[in-house]
Amino acid sequence: GGEQNLSHLLSGEGYLRNFYGLETELHPSFKRKITDSVSEKLKKMQSFFGLKVTGKLNNETVEMMKQPRCGVPDIGEYVLIDGNPKWPRNDLTYRIINRTPDMRPADVDEAIKQAFEVWSNVVPLTFRKIEDGAADIMMSFQFRDHGDGYPFYGPHGTLAHAFQPGPRIGGDVHFDEEETWTKNSKGYNLFIVAAHELGHSLGLAHSPDPGSLMYPNYAYRDTKEFHLPQDDINGQSLQPVQPTGPSTPRTCDPNLSFDAVATLRGEMLFFKGRYLWRKHPQIRETEINLISQFWPTLPAGIQAAYEDVEKDQFVLFKEDKFWVFKESNVVHGYPKRIHQLGFPKTVKRINAAFSDKNTRKTYFFVANKYWR
Ligand SMILES: [Zn+2]
Ligand SMILES: [Zn+2]
Repeated sequence: GGEQNLSHLLSGEGYLRNFYGLETELHPSFKRKITDSVSEKLKKMQSFFGLKVTGKLNNETVEMMKQPRCGVPDIGEYVLIDGNPKWPRNDLTYRIINRTPDMRPADVDEAIKQAFEVWSNVVPLTFRKIEDGAADIMMSFQFRDHGDGYPFYGPHGTLAHAFQPGPRIGGDVHFDEEETWTKNSKGYNLFIVAAHELGHSLGLAHSPDPGSLMYPNYAYRDTKEFHLPQDDINGQSLQPVQPTGPSTPRTCDPNLSFDAVATLRGEMLFFKGRYLWRKHPQIRETEINLISQFWPTLPAGIQAAYEDVEKDQFVLFKEDKFWVFKESNVVHGYPKRIHQLGFPKTVKRINAAFSDKNTRKTYFFVANKYWR
């Protein structure tokens, strides 16, 4: 299915049409206007994602456009009703119309149930599953053009979309049947995508905060310890019951401290909780991401990390475990216990690590000692 996505990407127009309300077909006689309009929409998109705002389709922008994401636009036209529509009742029903063959039916139902719980934990709404008839929120797996004017294009690209509160199709959630759906970190995690889409079903728009659930791009995160991030709770006029979600740190917060710092392929990486900042020596802006966007299987709260330049590997520590990655893939057999590196049992965790490529020695700092 990459084909259509790929040709869209060559100009970026498909992406801007789908997600930024670019209208190209409507004004065939205004060529120049379209060019201006593409540049304007590109600026909007770059600004939304915190990229350098150039109005030009540079590599950074194309890379962002290639990310798998939600089909709901980041601004504009998707609304059935103007403003920020809400459900007129607090007791809503949902129905699962069909299921993906990728997962056991019970696992599909469980992922969706948990996705509803993400929201019912923080907003005064209840969700009851019904087996037939019309539900407020109808959830289904759909293939390509499925009659609502928002076709899917095959694997990757757009993963799902949902409609804002309202009658009939309002609130409904469609998953792209051609994605590989899972209950773990492989393919696309159904729980995470469903939880995001249900945000739209409740009337939320996309958030530019990469730590939020309503960020448009897909990122795997630990589903066992999932708490709705603070940005989504503050979000956008939902009434919180308990405003206690984790919040995304501000890059320029003078009180910000880091859990770990390391180099990787010429960049500096700073770790804090679920977050990771990348600093390239030639780029002024520092980019914040979720750790799970790069290494989906890593937990939050990394305590030490170092780059093995010679092997082109990246080594990360948390408590008594360590992981070795080659690019985004964990090397077979990891995580292992730090005692397998030769530390005595009294060492419970590593505070910092550094590998010197000249001496080929690696230093591990633990409280007031270091090991080499
Ligand atoms: Zn979305
Ligand atoms: Zn649809």
